[in-house]
Amino acid sequence: MAFSEDVKIKAMVACGRYCCICHKFCGNNMEVHHIKAQADGGDNSFENAIPLCFDCHAIVRQYDPKHPKGIKFSEKELVQHRDAWYKHMHQENTNARKQCKTNKIEPIKIYHQKGYKNIMLNKVSNGKEILTYLIETYGITYDEEAETLEEVKLIGEFIQNIKELLDFNDLLDEPYDRIMTAFNLTESIKELDRVGFWVFVGKEDKVVTGGIKEPEIFPTLLIRIVRKDSSEIIKVNFENR
Ligand SMILES: [Zn+2]
Repeated sequence: MAFSEDVKIKAMVACGRYCCICHKFCGNNMEVHHIKAQADGGDNSFENAIPLCFDCHAIVRQYDPKHPKGIKFSEKELVQHRDAWYKHMHQENTNARKQCKTNKIEPIKIYHQKGYKNIMLNKVSNGKEILTYLIETYGITYDEEAETLEEVKLIGEFIQNIKELLDFNDLLDEPYDRIMTAFNLTESIKELDRVGFWVFVGKEDKVVTGGIKEPEIFPTLLIRIVRKDSSEIIKVNFENR
């Protein structure tokens, strides 16, 4: 009798196909060794199995009690090698999963401002985010690349909604209006996403000079509605920003 397929699979997954003794990645070149030999009454359970590379397996089996040389791998030691390595792999997997969650890849777009510093635009996924940008902005500039009538309509409505918000800024003072506005914008963003667009926003400080007065700065909301597959979109690691 040998180990069942289930036990072997479970063992391969637990060790990540790294040898439990030398910790070398072995791919297909692995064997599952009986910690307590079958001749000594060892069973085919997961608890009695240790995944090893060919080399380590040969060494573990090689020991000749008639001509003892070196230190034999005891059953107890093999169990400890295996358990320590399984634990290590489990920890690695947990860390990798955590990393996937925190190291979010976020798309951004860089707006090349003429004669001024470049501005990083962030992708927005809901209306609330846009509302936070709208506070203390005095205008919007936008750019889009609609091609079909459906796209023109969706983008047109979206921009129109935001323009109205700017024109009637007191709309945002009423909690109910705020919630409804945010909801409508979120729906628009979802619709745009459905037809293949992402919405990016940022703030640009427009400098207005007039006559003898000091130049005035007007923060302006930049909206860029970009096709998801556009080469202008850069994907950055959230953590490394
Ligand atoms: Zn090995």
